[in-house]
Order: sequence, then C-alpha cells, then structure tokens
Amino acid sequence: MCGIIGIIDNQEDVSYKLYYSLIFLQHRGQDACGIVTSENNKLYVKKKNGLALDSFSEDDLKLLVGKIGVAHNRYSTTGSINDNTQPLIINSNKNKIVLAHNGNLINYSDLHSSLEKDGCFLTTDVDSEVIIYLIRRQYEFTKDIFESIKFVMSKIKGAYSVVGFIEDKGLFAFRDPNGIRPLVIGKKEKSYAITSESVVLQTIDYDFLRDVEPGEIIFINKDTLELKSTKFEISKNAYCMFEWVYFSRPESLIQGRSVYKARLALGTALAKRLKDEEIDVIIPVPDTARTCAIKLAQDLNVNYGEGLIKNRYVGRTFIMPTNKSRISTLNVKLNPVIGAIKDKVVCVVDDSIVRGSTSRRIIELIRKGGAKKVIFASSCPPIKYPCYYGIDMSTEEELIASNKTIEEIRVFIGADKLIYATIDDIKDAIKKDLCCACLNNKYPIEVSDQSKLFFINDKKNRWVYG
Ligand code: SF4
Repeated sequence: MCGIIGIIDNQEDVSYKLYYSLIFLQHRGQDACGIVTSENNKLYVKKKNGLALDSFSEDDLKLLVGKIGVAHNRYSTTGSINDNTQPLIINSNKNKIVLAHNGNLINYSDLHSSLEKDGCFLTTDVDSEVIIYLIRRQYEFTKDIFESIKFVMSKIKGAYSVVGFIEDKGLFAFRDPNGIRPLVIGKKEKSYAITSESVVLQTIDYDFLRDVEPGEIIFINKDTLELKSTKFEISKNAYCMFEWVYFSRPESLIQGRSVYKARLALGTALAKRLKDEEIDVIIPVPDTARTCAIKLAQDLNVNYGEGLIKNRYVGRTFIMPTNKSRISTLNVKLNPVIGAIKDKVVCVVDDSIVRGSTSRRIIELIRKGGAKKVIFASSCPPIKYPCYYGIDMSTEEELIASNKTIEEIRVFIGADKLIYATIDDIKDAIKKDLCCACLNNKYPIEVSDQSKLFFINDKKNRWVYG
C-alpha cells in the first residue's frame, strides 16, 4: 500500500504542495518517500527512507523546482525496502518518464522474466519498474501516451493506481479496470492534482473534481493544461473494502462514499450484534476504530471512553518490519487508562484481527488496567485469505481466521466475548461494488497458482504485520 500524488501547474512550483500531500498520505506508507519535479528538461529528485516530515528540509523543497511533479510514500508489498523508493525515473529518447504506483501486479514475475528475455536490464525487484519499462518501450514506439498506456494495461494484471509525467510533455494517470485502489482528481484554477485520497485535496486547497474512474487513462498537457481522458476497458468494479474499513483517512471520499460515514454504519451494525450485552464502557483501539466505537456507544446508549492512549510518536504496528519489533513497539505504543476501564465490563472495538497477536496483547493491556470483563468487537469480518492486490496481510497460514474458528480465536486473544461484523454489514455500510476477496475468497482478478507461490516466497523473505 502506498500514497501517490502528481501535480501540474502553470504558475508556481509544486514541491511544497507535494510535500504537504505526502504528510497527509503518510498513513499509506512509512518505509520511504520521494519527490521528483521537472523544469526546462531537467529533473529534480529527493528520495529518502522514512517519514516525509523528516525527509525534506526547506532547502530541499526550494531546490525541487518545477511546475510538474510526482511524489510517493512507500509501503513495500513486493520487493525489498531499500531498492524501490519511488517515484521511479527512466530515460526515454529525449524525455525522461517519472512514475509513482500504488497497488500490486499479480503477473509481475512473468512480466519481469519476459522483459529480461527482451534484454531489459531491471535494477529492482519492484513491480512498478515493470510498468515504467513497458510504458517507455511503447511510448518510444508509438509516441502516443494514450496508446502506450492502453498497451501497458493490456499486459499488466492486478491493482494499480498510477501517476507520472513525461518530461516536457505532461502529467498522466491511470487506474486498473476494477478500480481496486483509489485515485481522485482535484483542480484549482488551471492546476490539477491527482492523488490517492481526497483528504489531500483539502490540505492543498484544491476542489475535489471526481474519482479517476476504473480503467480510465488521463493526460494533462504541460503547456495548455488541457485534461484529456480515455477508457481502457470497462470491467466489474471491485473497490477494496479495506480502504473504508481501515486504510483511508476518515475525511476521505472514495467513489462518493465517505470513509467516516461507512465507519459510522459499521458501528450501527456492531450495535445490533451487541444489543443484549451488559457493557459499562466502549473504547476504541486508536485511531482507526474510533469513529465506529463512538457510533456503537451512541446506538447502545453506553458510555464511550478513551481506554487506550496511543503514543503518537511511535509508528503503526501495521508496518513494522519483524514480529519481534512489532510486539515491542505495541508495548510502547498503547497504554491502558485505568480510570476509564478499572472494574468495568469493557467493549473494545478494533478495525480488524489479522494474526491475532496484536489483539491478544491489547486485551492483556486492558486486563492489566483492571477491566472486569473484555468484549472484543471487530468492524472487519474474519480475514481468511491473503490479499494479492497490495495490502500486506500475511500469508494464509499466518491469518488467524483461516486456521481457527471464531471461538478458537476468542480463546487465543483472551476475550470473554468476540463479535465480528459480517460481509453483509460491510456491503451495507459501504454501498459500493466491492472486492471482499480476503473475506470470501472471490478474487475479482484471477490469481494463478504460480503468482500465489511467488507471493508466499516474497513474504517469507520479508516481514509480517499483525
Ligand atoms: S483482498 Fe481484501 S485487502 Fe485486498 S483488495 Fe480485496 S478487499 Fe482489499
């Protein structure tokens, strides 16, 4: 999972806007970040491992000159952390191509092998490099960006939202035909911004124009700032449900559906399942579950409390590199508030249970804080199958719900009661055509056994999250 942004303007340099956008997309990836801008056929580049806030100084932003640019926050789902910081850059005759990608290609290893057979010298093990190579090869051949991207889209399979630019030509963007990962367009006067989440547009004061539609290709000419668009193909929409449940910020709108309102609706769904329980206080696991927990408390007419306090200076457990560091990070990341939970029946709400070890530790903390009884409510149904489309959910054998019944999970995490939202709850809350493959094994794009094997080996060589 990553955060991407591209901006094209005719009046001012875009580096500051790209930088602030990265800060507002930080939740989508914390491994590395980068900005690439262009002016007078010259590229200006700064990439670094770590958070955007720590990676760019004022001097850096002043040196990143140009009215067109692309930026990226990296959370590695394929490849190693160190060799794949984006945006990627490739030479193409006179013009360089720059590209940032969010998603995951399921036919990456086939494409990688066939490019190498054709004599391409790939320098990373990241799927985005395959996309930029294919664009370059086709663009040199056709000199037509729409034809080139259409050709590339006919070759690549999986989830992809992409922004990029061709030096001295213009900004391009495209999204996979199922629309798995989000991508939106904003406008301010003649300037355009294309980014992963609409929250960014608020931050840089651009008007939300619309979503980039599934299968759509966009090009904005550098000189005229005219936006042109075409469709690669119409396919069945399959928006990732996890964007609403966990990943996106509550301020964001995806395909017109507010993330905040979807989480409120999940709170109402959980309330129906908990209406007969005696509960003294409802608390969220901060921060994603807060909206859902507040609505659950309102609907049940039960006290809402902040029973766990997050240390805001520690990174998300979701993206820590090893099991060992994930657990130790949680120890310093969350603290129970004894005044809110001691001697009470506590219902704790989280967005999901993945491996179960984080949930178990959270319940231990709540019990340490003196809770009399702990009910655990998950706004995501049991996650039983891996995600091959860019959300790093571990392999099937590591997903607790793929190996245990709900009662066995309850015992493992140490809850007195465990409640999950259902897949129908998710569909009712989001009200869109969704990918729910990690819940129901119905993958909108078929994943071959070879790709699954590649995914498992890739995970084994890297890290896991809980
Ligand atoms: S498998 Fe799950 S996490 Fe992956 S895209 Fe589909 S809904 Fe999202």
